[in-house]
Amino acid sequence: MASPLRDAYLDALGIDRWVSRNAPPEAEVQAQAQAIPAPPVQATQPAPLGPITDWGVLRQRVAACTACDLCKTRTQTVFGVGNTNADWLVIGEAPGAEEDRQGEPFVGRAGQLLNAMLLAIGLPRETVFIANILKCRPPGNRDPKPEEVSRCLPFLSAQIGLLKPKMMLAVGRIAAQNLLATDAPLARLRGKLHHFGEAHTPLVITYHPAYLLRTPADKRKAWEDLKFARATYQRLAGTN
Ligand code: URA
Repeated sequence: MASPLRDAYLDALGIDRWVSRNAPPEAEVQAQAQAIPAPPVQATQPAPLGPITDWGVLRQRVAACTACDLCKTRTQTVFGVGNTNADWLVIGEAPGAEEDRQGEPFVGRAGQLLNAMLLAIGLPRETVFIANILKCRPPGNRDPKPEEVSRCLPFLSAQIGLLKPKMMLAVGRIAAQNLLATDAPLARLRGKLHHFGEAHTPLVITYHPAYLLRTPADKRKAWEDLKFARATYQRLAGTN
């Protein structure tokens, strides 16, 4: 990305562009991050949904779902949005109030920040696919319950099966912990390369944009995560 555009989006993220004279070069930081071996994490294996080979069928199955009580309080399901041929899959937690109203993930303030974060690594929102762990809004935006997650994860699995992403980016603790079937804190999951599912899809973890809105001091660390994800993708796709 041309640097004026990158600068504009770093500004949008609220990240200063100064670099310490003592800071190692970016390539060195990336090499260090890549040198961290992937931990022996076991990806979640939700109950199979049956073979679904079509986005339209999957969308209908999600829209009709009554597998948990969230169907009683939702306005509508929030399937996911974006390019169904995308290399990148971005995974959040669950729809909030605005997403429940509009039927699209990440459309509120956190969504605007997510868009800026993605654009900062050269990914306009419409070029990626964005989905959540849960397809329905938990009332009051409470954390998803384990049984809600286990009922809903097969839908995300089916989305991953259809999309076959080359790179996954999980934003926030809930997405990270559920994808990796761990209760490790986010701080331990960031900064290393994980893999998801049978396809062993590369998975990088960063902060949730809603958290970053509350804690702007951590935007710099999120920027490191994003650069690590981009470098990993470029390395694996052979575009670097
Ligand atoms: N937060 C999420 O995790 N997902 C959304 O879709 C909106 C906010």
